[in-house]
Amino acid sequence: MSDKKVAIVTGASRGIGFAIAEAFAKAGYNLAICATREATVNASADKLKALGAEVLAMVVNVTDGDAVKTMVQDTVKHFGRLDVLVNNAGITKDGLAMRMKADDWQAVIDTNLTSVFHASQAVLRPMMKAKVGRIINISSVVASLGNAGQLNYCASKGGVDAMTRSMAHEVGSRGITVNAIAPGFIATDMTDDMTDDAKKSLTTRIPLGRLGAPKDIAAMALFLASDDAAYITGQVIHVNGGMYM
Ligand code: NAP
Repeated sequence: MSDKKVAIVTGASRGIGFAIAEAFAKAGYNLAICATREATVNASADKLKALGAEVLAMVVNVTDGDAVKTMVQDTVKHFGRLDVLVNNAGITKDGLAMRMKADDWQAVIDTNLTSVFHASQAVLRPMMKAKVGRIINISSVVASLGNAGQLNYCASKGGVDAMTRSMAHEVGSRGITVNAIAPGFIATDMTDDMTDDAKKSLTTRIPLGRLGAPKDIAAMALFLASDDAAYITGQVIHVNGGMYM
Protein backbone atom coordinates (compact mmCIF):
# COMPACT_ATOMS: atom_id res chain seq x y z
CA MET A 1 0.00 0.00 0.00
CA SER A 2 1.32 3.42 -0.98
CA ASP A 3 1.94 6.05 1.71
CA LYS A 4 0.15 8.56 -0.47
CA LYS A 5 -3.49 9.28 0.29
CA VAL A 6 -6.03 8.42 -2.41
CA ALA A 7 -8.98 10.53 -3.54
CA ILE A 8 -11.78 9.73 -5.98
CA VAL A 9 -13.07 12.80 -7.83
CA THR A 10 -16.14 12.34 -10.03
CA GLY A 11 -16.58 14.60 -13.06
CA ALA A 12 -12.90 15.52 -13.11
CA SER A 13 -12.51 16.04 -16.85
CA ARG A 14 -12.90 19.82 -16.55
CA GLY A 15 -14.19 22.71 -14.46
CA ILE A 16 -14.40 22.42 -10.68
CA GLY A 17 -13.75 18.65 -10.66
CA PHE A 18 -10.50 18.99 -12.56
CA ALA A 19 -9.38 21.89 -10.32
CA ILE A 20 -10.06 19.74 -7.25
CA ALA A 21 -8.11 16.80 -8.71
CA GLU A 22 -5.27 19.18 -9.62
CA ALA A 23 -5.11 20.62 -6.09
CA PHE A 24 -5.06 17.11 -4.61
CA ALA A 25 -2.32 16.02 -7.03
CA LYS A 26 -0.22 19.04 -6.08
CA ALA A 27 -0.76 18.15 -2.40
CA GLY A 28 0.66 14.66 -2.98
CA TYR A 29 -2.48 12.54 -3.38
CA ASN A 30 -2.94 9.71 -5.85
CA LEU A 31 -6.21 9.97 -7.76
CA ALA A 32 -9.05 8.02 -9.27
CA ILE A 33 -11.04 10.21 -11.64
CA CYS A 34 -14.06 9.65 -13.84
CA ALA A 35 -16.17 11.35 -16.48
CA THR A 36 -18.29 10.16 -19.37
CA ARG A 37 -15.83 10.63 -22.26
CA GLU A 38 -12.60 8.71 -22.65
CA ALA A 39 -10.64 11.40 -24.48
CA THR A 40 -11.27 14.14 -21.91
CA VAL A 41 -10.82 11.96 -18.85
CA ASN A 42 -7.51 10.66 -20.24
CA ALA A 43 -6.35 14.18 -21.07
CA SER A 44 -7.03 15.20 -17.46
CA ALA A 45 -5.20 12.13 -16.18
CA ASP A 46 -2.11 13.06 -18.23
CA LYS A 47 -2.05 16.54 -16.66
CA LEU A 48 -2.38 15.07 -13.16
CA LYS A 49 0.36 12.50 -13.80
CA ALA A 50 2.65 15.36 -14.86
CA LEU A 51 2.14 16.74 -11.32
CA GLY A 52 3.46 13.48 -9.84
CA ALA A 53 0.20 11.69 -9.05
CA GLU A 54 -0.56 8.08 -9.89
CA VAL A 55 -3.93 8.27 -11.65
CA LEU A 56 -6.62 5.71 -12.35
CA ALA A 57 -8.76 7.25 -15.10
CA MET A 58 -12.17 5.68 -15.66
CA VAL A 59 -15.08 6.26 -18.02
CA VAL A 60 -18.02 6.05 -15.66
CA ASN A 61 -21.47 7.53 -15.97
CA VAL A 62 -22.37 8.34 -12.37
CA THR A 63 -26.06 7.69 -13.08
CA ASP A 64 -25.18 3.98 -13.34
CA GLY A 65 -25.15 2.76 -9.73
CA ASP A 66 -23.42 -0.54 -10.57
CA ALA A 67 -20.68 1.24 -12.53
CA VAL A 68 -20.12 3.62 -9.61
CA LYS A 69 -19.79 0.66 -7.23
CA THR A 70 -17.28 -0.99 -9.57
CA MET A 71 -15.32 2.29 -9.80
CA VAL A 72 -14.94 2.36 -6.02
CA GLN A 73 -13.98 -1.33 -5.85
CA ASP A 74 -11.42 -0.90 -8.67
CA THR A 75 -9.91 2.11 -6.88
CA VAL A 76 -9.46 0.20 -3.63
CA LYS A 77 -8.06 -2.81 -5.53
CA HIS A 78 -5.62 -0.62 -7.48
CA PHE A 79 -4.31 1.60 -4.68
CA GLY A 80 -5.00 -0.55 -1.61
CA ARG A 81 -6.62 2.37 0.18
CA LEU A 82 -9.26 5.09 -0.19
CA ASP A 83 -9.14 8.28 1.87
CA VAL A 84 -11.44 10.79 0.15
CA LEU A 85 -14.51 10.79 -2.10
CA VAL A 86 -15.43 14.03 -3.85
CA ASN A 87 -18.91 13.83 -5.38
CA ASN A 88 -18.55 16.57 -7.98
CA ALA A 89 -20.15 15.38 -11.25
CA GLY A 90 -23.21 17.43 -12.04
CA ILE A 91 -25.40 18.83 -14.81
CA THR A 92 -28.09 21.42 -15.39
CA LYS A 93 -31.18 21.10 -17.57
CA ASP A 94 -32.92 24.40 -16.91
CA GLY A 95 -36.51 25.34 -17.62
CA LEU A 96 -39.42 26.99 -15.87
CA ALA A 97 -41.57 24.68 -13.74
CA MET A 98 -44.61 25.08 -16.00
CA ARG A 99 -42.73 23.66 -18.98
CA MET A 100 -40.09 21.40 -17.42
CA LYS A 101 -40.05 17.97 -19.03
CA ALA A 102 -40.15 14.99 -16.67
CA ASP A 103 -37.01 13.62 -18.41
CA ASP A 104 -35.10 16.82 -17.58
CA TRP A 105 -36.25 16.63 -13.97
CA GLN A 106 -35.14 12.99 -13.70
CA ALA A 107 -31.79 13.41 -15.49
CA VAL A 108 -30.72 16.14 -13.06
CA ILE A 109 -31.90 14.21 -9.99
CA ASP A 110 -30.13 11.04 -11.21
CA THR A 111 -26.85 12.81 -12.01
CA ASN A 112 -26.63 15.26 -9.12
CA LEU A 113 -28.38 13.46 -6.26
CA THR A 114 -28.83 9.70 -6.74
CA SER A 115 -25.19 9.38 -7.88
CA VAL A 116 -24.08 10.86 -4.54
CA PHE A 117 -26.06 8.16 -2.72
CA HIS A 118 -24.50 5.36 -4.81
CA ALA A 119 -20.91 6.61 -4.55
CA SER A 120 -21.14 7.47 -0.85
CA GLN A 121 -22.70 4.11 -0.01
CA ALA A 122 -19.94 2.33 -1.94
CA VAL A 123 -17.08 4.05 -0.06
CA LEU A 124 -18.53 3.44 3.41
CA ARG A 125 -17.28 -0.15 3.72
CA PRO A 126 -13.60 0.58 2.95
CA MET A 127 -13.68 3.81 4.97
CA MET A 128 -15.31 2.10 7.99
CA LYS A 129 -12.69 -0.63 7.81
CA ALA A 130 -9.95 2.03 7.82
CA LYS A 131 -11.80 3.91 10.62
CA VAL A 132 -11.18 7.15 8.74
CA GLY A 133 -12.51 8.85 5.63
CA ARG A 134 -13.75 12.05 4.06
CA ILE A 135 -16.81 12.48 1.86
CA ILE A 136 -17.08 15.88 0.20
CA ASN A 137 -20.21 16.69 -1.81
CA ILE A 138 -20.36 19.58 -4.25
CA SER A 139 -23.69 21.30 -3.71
CA SER A 140 -24.67 24.81 -4.85
CA VAL A 141 -25.63 28.18 -3.41
CA VAL A 142 -29.00 27.85 -5.18
CA ALA A 143 -29.98 25.02 -2.81
CA SER A 144 -30.26 27.80 -0.20
CA LEU A 145 -31.38 30.69 -2.42
CA GLY A 146 -33.65 28.96 -4.94
CA ASN A 147 -33.44 30.01 -8.57
CA ALA A 148 -36.13 30.54 -11.18
CA GLY A 149 -35.71 28.06 -14.03
CA GLN A 150 -33.68 25.60 -11.95
CA LEU A 151 -36.33 23.70 -10.02
CA ASN A 152 -34.70 20.34 -10.75
CA TYR A 153 -31.17 21.54 -10.05
CA CYS A 154 -32.12 23.31 -6.78
CA ALA A 155 -34.05 20.23 -5.61
CA SER A 156 -31.07 17.97 -6.39
CA LYS A 157 -28.63 20.17 -4.48
CA GLY A 158 -31.05 20.64 -1.56
CA GLY A 159 -31.18 16.85 -1.41
CA VAL A 160 -27.40 16.69 -1.37
CA ASP A 161 -27.29 19.09 1.60
CA ALA A 162 -29.84 17.01 3.53
CA MET A 163 -28.05 13.75 2.66
CA THR A 164 -24.76 15.28 3.82
CA ARG A 165 -26.19 15.97 7.29
CA SER A 166 -27.92 12.58 7.57
CA MET A 167 -24.85 10.60 6.55
CA ALA A 168 -22.67 12.68 8.89
CA HIS A 169 -24.95 11.56 11.75
CA GLU A 170 -24.62 7.91 10.71
CA VAL A 171 -20.86 7.62 10.20
CA GLY A 172 -19.30 10.14 12.58
CA SER A 173 -18.61 7.47 15.18
CA ARG A 174 -16.60 5.57 12.54
CA GLY A 175 -14.16 8.45 11.97
CA ILE A 176 -15.73 9.51 8.68
CA THR A 177 -16.66 13.14 8.04
CA VAL A 178 -19.27 14.16 5.47
CA ASN A 179 -19.47 17.75 4.30
CA ALA A 180 -20.75 19.73 1.34
CA ILE A 181 -19.29 22.74 -0.42
CA ALA A 182 -21.86 25.11 -1.90
CA PRO A 183 -20.17 27.13 -4.64
CA GLY A 184 -21.65 30.42 -5.80
CA PHE A 185 -21.24 31.29 -9.48
CA ILE A 186 -17.96 29.83 -10.73
CA ALA A 187 -16.51 30.39 -14.21
CA THR A 188 -16.73 26.96 -15.91
CA ASP A 189 -18.44 25.42 -18.96
CA MET A 190 -21.58 25.20 -16.81
CA THR A 191 -21.86 28.99 -16.46
CA ASP A 192 -20.29 29.81 -19.84
CA ASP A 193 -23.67 29.57 -21.57
CA MET A 194 -24.95 32.66 -19.75
CA THR A 195 -25.14 35.90 -21.73
CA ASP A 196 -22.72 38.71 -20.85
CA ASP A 197 -25.68 40.75 -19.58
CA ALA A 198 -26.79 37.92 -17.28
CA LYS A 199 -23.23 37.57 -15.96
CA LYS A 200 -23.00 41.33 -15.38
CA SER A 201 -26.32 41.47 -13.54
CA LEU A 202 -25.31 38.49 -11.45
CA THR A 203 -21.99 40.04 -10.55
CA THR A 204 -23.79 43.00 -8.99
CA ARG A 205 -25.22 40.53 -6.44
CA ILE A 206 -21.74 39.33 -5.45
CA PRO A 207 -20.09 41.56 -2.81
CA LEU A 208 -16.62 40.50 -4.00
CA GLY A 209 -17.64 41.72 -7.47
CA ARG A 210 -16.57 38.75 -9.62
CA LEU A 211 -17.42 35.21 -10.52
CA GLY A 212 -15.39 32.63 -8.57
CA ALA A 213 -12.70 30.42 -10.07
CA PRO A 214 -12.62 26.61 -9.85
CA LYS A 215 -9.51 26.86 -7.68
CA ASP A 216 -11.55 28.73 -5.03
CA ILE A 217 -13.62 25.57 -4.58
CA ALA A 218 -10.62 23.25 -4.86
CA ALA A 219 -8.91 25.00 -1.93
CA MET A 220 -11.90 24.31 0.32
CA ALA A 221 -12.10 20.67 -0.80
CA LEU A 222 -8.42 20.18 0.00
CA PHE A 223 -8.92 21.72 3.44
CA LEU A 224 -11.95 19.54 4.21
CA ALA A 225 -9.90 16.48 3.26
CA SER A 226 -7.03 17.48 5.55
CA ASP A 227 -6.33 16.43 9.13
CA ASP A 228 -6.96 20.06 10.16
CA ALA A 229 -10.65 19.60 9.24
CA ALA A 230 -11.09 16.46 11.38
CA TYR A 231 -13.68 18.12 13.67
CA ILE A 232 -15.90 19.47 10.87
CA THR A 233 -18.79 17.29 9.77
CA GLY A 234 -22.37 17.65 8.53
CA GLN A 235 -21.70 21.17 7.26
CA VAL A 236 -22.58 22.95 4.05
CA ILE A 237 -19.75 25.39 3.51
CA HIS A 238 -20.51 28.33 1.24
CA VAL A 239 -17.80 29.61 -1.10
CA ASN A 240 -19.56 32.31 -3.07
CA GLY A 241 -17.95 35.76 -2.83
CA GLY A 242 -20.66 36.76 -0.37
CA MET A 243 -23.69 36.34 -2.67
CA TYR A 244 -25.41 34.35 0.09
CA MET A 245 -24.64 35.02 3.76
P1 NAP B 1 -18.80 21.40 -15.81
O1 NAP B 1 -17.69 22.32 -16.18
O2 NAP B 1 -19.98 21.30 -16.70
O3 NAP B 1 -18.19 19.94 -15.54
C1 NAP B 1 -19.03 18.89 -15.14
C2 NAP B 1 -18.21 17.66 -14.92
O4 NAP B 1 -19.10 16.60 -14.52
C3 NAP B 1 -17.51 17.20 -16.19
O5 NAP B 1 -16.28 16.61 -15.85
C4 NAP B 1 -18.47 16.16 -16.73
O6 NAP B 1 -17.82 15.17 -17.50
C5 NAP B 1 -18.95 15.51 -15.42
N1 NAP B 1 -20.21 14.80 -15.59
C6 NAP B 1 -21.40 15.29 -15.94
N2 NAP B 1 -22.32 14.32 -16.00
C7 NAP B 1 -21.67 13.18 -15.64
C8 NAP B 1 -22.07 11.84 -15.51
N3 NAP B 1 -23.33 11.45 -15.74
N4 NAP B 1 -21.14 10.91 -15.14
C9 NAP B 1 -19.86 11.28 -14.92
N5 NAP B 1 -19.42 12.54 -15.03
C10 NAP B 1 -20.32 13.48 -15.40
O7 NAP B 1 -19.42 21.79 -14.37
P2 NAP B 1 -18.76 22.57 -13.13
O8 NAP B 1 -19.21 23.96 -13.21
O9 NAP B 1 -17.34 22.24 -13.00
O10 NAP B 1 -19.60 21.87 -11.96
C11 NAP B 1 -19.06 20.88 -11.10
C12 NAP B 1 -19.97 20.72 -9.90
O11 NAP B 1 -20.10 21.98 -9.24
C13 NAP B 1 -21.38 20.29 -10.27
O12 NAP B 1 -21.89 19.41 -9.30
C14 NAP B 1 -22.15 21.60 -10.24
O13 NAP B 1 -23.51 21.40 -10.00
C15 NAP B 1 -21.46 22.30 -9.09
N6 NAP B 1 -21.62 23.76 -9.10
C16 NAP B 1 -21.13 24.52 -10.12
C17 NAP B 1 -21.31 25.90 -10.07
C18 NAP B 1 -20.79 26.82 -11.14
O14 NAP B 1 -21.09 28.02 -11.06
N7 NAP B 1 -20.02 26.36 -12.10
C19 NAP B 1 -22.00 26.48 -8.99
C20 NAP B 1 -22.47 25.67 -7.98
C21 NAP B 1 -22.28 24.32 -8.04
P3 NAP B 1 -18.03 14.96 -19.08
O15 NAP B 1 -16.78 15.45 -19.68
O16 NAP B 1 -18.21 13.50 -19.15
O17 NAP B 1 -19.24 15.72 -19.49
